[in-house]
Order: sequence, then structure tokens, then C-alpha cells
Amino acid sequence: MSPPSDQHRTALICGITGQDGCYLAAHLLGLGYRVVGTSRDATPARLGGLRQLGIDQQVVIEPASLAEAELLVNLIERERPDVIYHLAGQSSVAVSFDKPAETFESIATSTLHLLEAIRTAAVPPRLFVAGSSEIFGTRQTTPVTCESTLDPQNPYAVAKTTAFRIVQQYRREHGLFACTGVLFNHESPLRPARFVTQKIVAGACEIAAGRQQELRLGDLSMERDWGWAPEYVVAMEQMLTRDTPEDFILATGRSHRLQDFVAAAFRSVGLDWQDYVVQDEQFVRPHDGSHPLASVAETTERLGWTATVQLSELVRRMVAARQSDEVASVSRAA
Ligand code: NDP
Repeated sequence: MSPPSDQHRTALICGITGQDGCYLAAHLLGLGYRVVGTSRDATPARLGGLRQLGIDQQVVIEPASLAEAELLVNLIERERPDVIYHLAGQSSVAVSFDKPAETFESIATSTLHLLEAIRTAAVPPRLFVAGSSEIFGTRQTTPVTCESTLDPQNPYAVAKTTAFRIVQQYRREHGLFACTGVLFNHESPLRPARFVTQKIVAGACEIAAGRQQELRLGDLSMERDWGWAPEYVVAMEQMLTRDTPEDFILATGRSHRLQDFVAAAFRSVGLDWQDYVVQDEQFVRPHDGSHPLASVAETTERLGWTATVQLSELVRRMVAARQSDEVASVSRAA
């Protein structure tokens, strides 16, 4: 299990079309990796994020679903990756209530399939699995570490908790180099529109452009730790180039209210959020309680990674990216 070191390392990114998959692919290409990625639907429309980063022609896309164990074995045999990143799966808590089976299979069962494929590979690749702060629930009162009590409170969290434990069990039982990055929220211009952060950025920009009058949101007091996604993929890569596999919390260590995110977005377009935002009961979700604070001391000390982009800068970047997209689409249409 020596760390991959030569210049022709191959990385397999499961879920390459997602926010993190795109940034990770760009980061790994920059480090000299050959990058192969899976997508269930490798149509041009799904490759928008990779295209936005200008790397869609530099990666190899394999149409694949992680539901098929044999297909994964064949893929690993054929591509012989040195490292595998499991970033695929149904990633919305809200959707997980409507699709619990799909959520579980795409997160937990897929992790098991990957671990089995790696365990039986001639040369086992290293594996990073995307975990989630949702595993801690909303009732913890002290900053959480990877050893904290797990208290999953929704189908997505149950699936992430199962995957987290399976990875630990395979590491213990089979000595695999497999680890989980327990990811707190992280955002970017590539965040899908269904997430509230993109809804806020879009709303502020539309209101500033005079195309929308108000923005309706749920509970503005709920707290999250929001980081900048392109920084988080650097930590993922670092986790797979250490001497030993270990789980780490990936977070900024600072929590903010949704209201702070909203205020920053409107500030970025020169407006006061209080003039435009309406709190609407229909958007309040009972499962959206505040997440616990993250303890990032171990991550800083042992992984040597720290998130540097703070909330107001992160929001400013998302707003600027949306506004420059609008300018580009207007000039394309002209
Ligand atoms: P995205 O939702 O942007 O991307 C996930 C990718 O997984 C999609 O592009 C899609 O690829 C694939 N996918 C989506 N639904 C399914 C499904 N039902 N079955 C199988 N594959 C599916 O997620 P992110 O990039 O933001 O996150 C990466 C990982 O990190 C995910 O596991 C997420 O749960 C986790 N995470 C993310 C956080 C965040 O704040 N971003 C916070 C905590 C955890 P395709 O359609 O091409 O197959």
C-alpha cells in the first residue's frame, strides 16, 4: 500500500459530473493524474460543470452506475486506478425522504460494492468516500469529531452513517487504504440550483436586476458551516496521499445562520436583504435543524489542511460568478 507516486497515476472519480467531482477532476489533472470518471448519464448536458471548468475534453467518462457490482469490478480491472473517489449518490436530505431506497443504495450499498471490488483487485487502489455532517444529527452540544456519537435523523444521514461504518470495518478487517472525509456543507458556482444557497444567490441577483420582487425562504435561524468547495477537494486528495488511512472532518469550524448567508448575498449586489426576503412557513422543513459545530483541530494538525475562504467571500464569489454568467449569456445572444 505505498502511496501512488509516479507521474502516470490514474484516478477514478465516481460522480465526476457533480460539484465536487468537477473540482476534484480539475485539481487532479493539475497534479498530472489521468482522470476517469463515472456518470449514470454521460450526455453533454450532464457534463456542464466539467465544461465550465474547461476540462470536459481532458477526462475519460465511463457510463456506469455504482449499483452494478460486477461492472465496478470490470471497470477497476480495466482502468487500474491508483486512487478512487466515491462522490456519487443522491445528495439531498429533502429528496431522501421521498426516495429512501435510492438514497441508501446510491450511498451505502455503492460504498460496499466499491470496497468489495477493491478488496478483490490484484492491486487494491486507495479509496476516499464522501461522508456528511448529517451523521451527527442536530442534538450535539459540543464540537464534533470523527469519534463523536452518531445520531442520523433522516434517510440521507442513515445512508451516510452506514457508509462511514462500512469503510471503518473494511479498513479494520481487510487492511484497505479506505477513508471517509466527513464533509460539512461546501458551496461554489457549480452547486445545483435545488440547494438553498443557490436559490439565495439567484434570488439576490434577479432582484438586483429588477426581474424578481421578493425572495421567499424558510427558517433563517438554522446554522450551517459553509466552506468553499474547490478547497475541500484538495483535502480529499491529501487524505489519499498520507502514510495511513484515517477519517477526517472537513469543515471551516465556524457556523453561521442562514440569515448571515442571505445578508451577504444581498450585500454583494448592493441591497439590504430585509427589504426583499419574506419568511414563508411552507419552506420550513422540520428536518432542517442546526448542525453541530465542527472540531477541526485534528484536521489542521494531522492532515495539514485548513479551510481559508470564509462565508462573506464565498458568497461574494458565487454572486460574481452568476453575474458574469449573465453578462456572458447576454453577449452570446447579442
Ligand atoms: P452532487 O449532487 O453535485 O453530485 C453527486 C453526483 O452523484 C451527481 O453528479 C450524479 O452524477 C450522481 N448521483 C446523483 N444522484 C444519484 C443517484 N440517485 N444514484 C447514483 N448517483 C447519483 O454532489 P456534491 O458534488 O455536492 O457532493 C459530493 C459528495 O459529497 C456526495 O456524496 C454528497 O452527499 C457529499 N456531501 C456534499 C456536501 C456538500 O455540501 N456539497 C456536504 C456533505 C456531503 P450522474 O448523474 O452523472 O451519475
